[in-house]
Amino acid sequence: MQWKKGFRERHGATGKIAFEEAVKAAGLPLEAVMQTVKEFNEAVKAGKAAQLNPPYLFEHPHELKKGPFYLIPAVGGIANTFGGPKIDKYARVINTEDRPIPGLYAAGAAAGGIWYQADISGSQLGGCLVFGRLAARHAAARAKKAKA
Ligand SMILES: Cc1cc2nc3c(=O)[nH]c(=O)nc-3n(C[C@H](O)[C@H](O)[C@H](O)COP(=O)(O)OP(=O)(O)OC[C@H]3O[C@@H](n4cnc5c(N)ncnc54)[C@H](O)[C@@H]3O)c2cc1C
Repeated sequence: MQWKKGFRERHGATGKIAFEEAVKAAGLPLEAVMQTVKEFNEAVKAGKAAQLNPPYLFEHPHELKKGPFYLIPAVGGIANTFGGPKIDKYARVINTEDRPIPGLYAAGAAAGGIWYQADISGSQLGGCLVFGRLAARHAAARAKKAKA
């Protein structure tokens, strides 16, 4: 991101700058951002922070008023998948008639049905390892059988 480099050069490592300047440095439309901030502050003041989109769910929400403000480049990411093909205990993909599709396996992020709504921290990698190994073992046994 080009603005990130320029921002650091101009403001140093702390990134401490005035709000309007931060908005401009990010290349965002100042008027629209200020309007959003105004609406945000009004909602907080009116006790309607939880009705914002996205909701602001702090126990004691506060208005965006007093600086210093910091500009932090951020990107969205997906840590977990919730959905995908159904698999069985050998990580075989199950078809719509509840039968395994021969030779098709899914594990880790490619498999669904292990987590619902939220995952237990650390369990994704555990699931990857366990079902990846199960799939590999089953596929190897299948290949061996086909060769014999
Ligand atoms: C920011 C973040 C934090 C996370 N924190 C945790 C955590 O604390 N604990 C936890 O358990 N889980 C965590 N996860 C989730 C966990 O990392 C994933 O569930 C896991 O890495 C998925 O493993 P995978 O092998 O299924 O897929 P991936 O790790 O996505 O591996 C798929 C691989 O296939 C390769 N690939 C894709 N297409 C092709 C192709 N056509 N040919 C060849 N190679 C290809 C990709 O380059 C990649 O290397 C986190 C994920 C993220 C993004």
